[in-house]
Amino acid sequence: MSLDYSIHIGPYLECQVAKVQVQKEKRTCVNVECKNHGKAFYSQYAPIEKIFCELCGNKIETISTPIEMDSVHTGELRDKIKEKLIPLGGNFNSKEEHYWVSNQREDSHISYDPKTPDEEKIITELVFNKMSAMMSQFEEYFEKEIKIIKKEYGEDRVKIKFGVLCNVS
Ligand SMILES: [Zn+2]
Repeated sequence: MSLDYSIHIGPYLECQVAKVQVQKEKRTCVNVECKNHGKAFYSQYAPIEKIFCELCGNKIETISTPIEMDSVHTGELRDKIKEKLIPLGGNFNSKEEHYWVSNQREDSHISYDPKTPDEEKIITELVFNKMSAMMSQFEEYFEKEIKIIKKEYGEDRVKIKFGVLCNVS
């Protein structure tokens, strides 16, 4: 097993995500006393009248159960903004908020990424007024994308912040 560890230092978007209830269909044993009750059957290609529970012999039927989901689908939103900003995954997946960071390296002055070979930046001093300048640059540079993101989450639910985000996946 390997571990992916990354650190983002700089401006980011903190987006509070609303939850929605959706109905999800699954095939399961309808016998409430059976151990298979509630367990999903995945033989989707067989006609349902031909599927029976291997434990109790009852018919398998499609039931609909409510599940809670995020109101914003990060994958679709990521495509909408052409991946100029990307959502953090890994240990950020279980959070109540979604975190979006810049996916642009050069020219934007919004990243401390030292990977450019001719630029061996191993130490970058962070001074207070530089942070606020970077936040304004971030807001300006991603104006269009932030507008789209705010439309998805809600105007008041998106905040521009500055910080250190450690991502483990
Ligand atoms: Zn059963």
